[in-house]
Amino acid sequence: MSMRTLTAPFSSSSSIRLPTREVTKRRSLNPRASSTPIPRKEHVVIVGAGIAGLATALSLHRLGVRSLVLEQGDSLRTGGTSLTLFKNGWRVLDAIGVGDELRDKFLQIQGLVMRSVDGRELRSFSFEKEAPGQEVRAVERSLLLETLSSRLPPNSIAFSSKVQSISRQGTEGTLLEHDDGTQTLAEIVIGCEGIRSPVAKWMGFSEPKYVGYCALRGLGFYPEGQPFEAKVNYIYGRGIRAGFVPVSQKKVYWFICFNRPSLGQRTLDTSFLKKQALELMRSWPPEILDVIRSTPDDVVVKTPLVDRWLWPGLSPPASAGKAAVVGDAWHPMTPNLGQGACCALEDSVILAGKLAAALKGGESVEAALRAYGRERWARIFTLTARANLVGSLLQWDNPVACGVRDSAVIPWLVRLGPFLEHTNFECELMGPVAST
Ligand SMILES: Cc1cc2nc3c(=O)[nH]c(=O)nc-3n(C[C@H](O)[C@H](O)[C@H](O)COP(=O)(O)OP(=O)(O)OC[C@H]3O[C@@H](n4cnc5c(N)ncnc54)[C@H](O)[C@@H]3O)c2cc1C
Repeated sequence: MSMRTLTAPFSSSSSIRLPTREVTKRRSLNPRASSTPIPRKEHVVIVGAGIAGLATALSLHRLGVRSLVLEQGDSLRTGGTSLTLFKNGWRVLDAIGVGDELRDKFLQIQGLVMRSVDGRELRSFSFEKEAPGQEVRAVERSLLLETLSSRLPPNSIAFSSKVQSISRQGTEGTLLEHDDGTQTLAEIVIGCEGIRSPVAKWMGFSEPKYVGYCALRGLGFYPEGQPFEAKVNYIYGRGIRAGFVPVSQKKVYWFICFNRPSLGQRTLDTSFLKKQALELMRSWPPEILDVIRSTPDDVVVKTPLVDRWLWPGLSPPASAGKAAVVGDAWHPMTPNLGQGACCALEDSVILAGKLAAALKGGESVEAALRAYGRERWARIFTLTARANLVGSLLQWDNPVACGVRDSAVIPWLVRLGPFLEHTNFECELMGPVAST
């Protein structure tokens, strides 16, 4: 797959602060210099300070490799409500030394309950009995990001540093151009900038594909304490399903997935989104309505769900030379298994381990990145496909098919232990931060 200069017009962000301040100053004093900006040179650059980017930076840091994270926003992302991490996610958080700090903040979920729209219980499971060793917690995204970033050395993240275009500079490295015209020349580039990744696009990956349904999400807030058991609650309708799960003593995460053949208009009006959620749940069990009503207007988000299947031979590999992609930048998947962020965390430690070993041993970085892609591909491909298939089944709207699902598949055929086998993942604890 050939590399090309990517100059697609991504929407602009505010001024770039960190990496190129001196360059910007020099350019404003010398008008001739503005046509030939001097790039800031960096060894390892990570694009995107999301879960993948920060976990990769922290893993590398613990292995003694410094990196610079370029983030388009002027601070860490605060929206995005919450996500559920299973035991594979927790193994990684333990490996990079932040597991216990996060455990203290979020409730351990004991089981799950599945209901139909009329409130009838279809099935309930206990993790202890049916999936011993499983660890499930719904984690606030903003706290996860803050915790990861707090363990990085000062100046590891350059905010307001949106990467807009990318080009190879011979043997010198990869040139990243920012939206204010400043540049970063990176020897090694790790694209962690999510589903609209410029790095992935430059490497030849196709656009993620819309799967035909959207998610509304929010975080209910109960100042006097929330009233629910520590269980995941799922409710299944026709072409629509919803769920909620306690996050902490005062917060409850909820979501609704509903069929929409086309994307429709994008709206950022969160009070409209909350009204839409209440409307969709109008005759549903009172608990879900209560959680949505308890949600501050500004923490409701709507996301069209997408994925990208990494077909062998058709999709490019995860790395090209000294560039690689991690997390959603590589493998956007639907959230039906709760594995997108868990897999991003897994990617991070595997990539960091291989890259750090190559750098320390004076071995080939290209080979290390190729080995990362080879090791991860089968797991990622299978999970993306499985998440998509599970989603299709849960979004059925045919009344007969839904009847079979609610009266036979869920009550008799679902077995929690085997269903969660994909959460088995082991990685070694990384020792205290190694010196560079
Ligand atoms: C409805 C829904 C529910 C989900 N639930 C779960 C769940 O329960 N469990 C789970 O494990 N996963 C879940 N996921 C998936 C999870 O949210 C993603 O897999 C995860 O956020 C991926 O992290 P990332 O770091 O790869 O990308 P992102 O979180 O998208 O982070 C990308 C970062 O890169 C920055 N960026 C983007 N473009 C640029 C640029 N050009 N230059 C510089 N910076 C840039 C962004 O600002 C952002 O900070 C869910 C997803 C959805 C949509």
